[in-house]
Amino acid sequence: MHIFQAMEEYGHEQILFASDRRVGLRAVIAIHSTVLGPALGGTRFWNYATEKEALEDVLRLSRGMTLKNAAAGLKLGGGKAVIMGEPEKLKSKAFLHAYGKCIERLGGRFYTAEDVNINVSDMACIREVTRFVTGTPERSGNPSPFTARGVYMGMKAGSSIQFGTDSLEGKTVVVQGLGSVGYALCEFLHKEGAKLKVHDTNAVAVEKAVRELGAKALAAEEVLATEGDIFAPCAMGAVLSTEKVRHLKCRLIAGAANNVLVDAATGDALEERGICYLPDYIINAGGVLNCGMEIAEGVYEPSTVHARIDDIYNTTLKIIALAKERQISTDRAAQAYAEERILRPVQQTGSNLT
Ligand code: NAD
Repeated sequence: MHIFQAMEEYGHEQILFASDRRVGLRAVIAIHSTVLGPALGGTRFWNYATEKEALEDVLRLSRGMTLKNAAAGLKLGGGKAVIMGEPEKLKSKAFLHAYGKCIERLGGRFYTAEDVNINVSDMACIREVTRFVTGTPERSGNPSPFTARGVYMGMKAGSSIQFGTDSLEGKTVVVQGLGSVGYALCEFLHKEGAKLKVHDTNAVAVEKAVRELGAKALAAEEVLATEGDIFAPCAMGAVLSTEKVRHLKCRLIAGAANNVLVDAATGDALEERGICYLPDYIINAGGVLNCGMEIAEGVYEPSTVHARIDDIYNTTLKIIALAKERQISTDRAAQAYAEERILRPVQQTGSNLT
């Protein structure tokens, strides 16, 4: 991979490669943009097969954070970090401290929070050596319940357009993935009287949803083809392609998973079929709003955070309206909406470096 070429294509400002042989640390911190403020993005700990795979992941995810933070109205840029290796073997206090010192040396250009295989207690440990972390237990905490609330609010907004009412009572929602966000979303939906059809590779999570929320369990191959009003992908990304869109029976897609669409053409295909897709980074921004406001506003005020998360409802309506006005997919409209927010300061200074 030609690193500078990739940076130019994605528009990155800076990439830091960090290594500490004593503890086996190998990390890449990608700062995509600080135009709107310091870059914020999670730290993912993953046993990547190759360095190229890790680099591609961090470049793609950090760019996504720029769009997500901008669309959420945060005065924050986008970044992401990946740590390579097996978390169970490598993770220790010394390891997390070594990683935290790399973040500290960036002097506040990058703030991080939880992501895959980095939990709230890991964040607390990293915080012992750097101020530039968020999502710690004594402050904004675990972002997942906030993410679930934002997805729920986005789904209600989408329903108001697709079904003429934002009440989800009686609607059938197909939920893929019953982890921290997916299960919390199911709880909101159950409370409102929605009918749930669920699938997770973890049978224990499915049994719990069946028992506690009256959900109907689906086999993996049934998820995309089953009858239902709304599909909520809350597991992994790249769930929908132009081919898979043909089999969908739902009219609205609203989930937490990042990068749900394989490409922009899939968004166009959904539009053509009259299926309303709510872009992932618009409606899954509750978690980032929760920890981002702690940095952007300098204080953590739960009532303000809740109000901002509930405003995802209005942002969702704006994206749908923009798509209609410009005759483009909601996926393309979300990107335009976020990029226009980032471009404003760039046009004033003429540089993508602040
Ligand atoms: P999680 O790890 O707690 O849950 C993921 C769930 O998906 C697990 O229960 C897992 O068993 C299940 N799963 C994995 N592969 C599956 C498959 N092929 N089919 C069905 N189920 C499968 O993760 P989470 O924190 O709930 O996040 C869910 C998604 O939302 C992820 O894509 C994440 O990147 C995204 N997201 C999460 C947050 C957050 O605040 N946690 C914020 C923004 C986006």
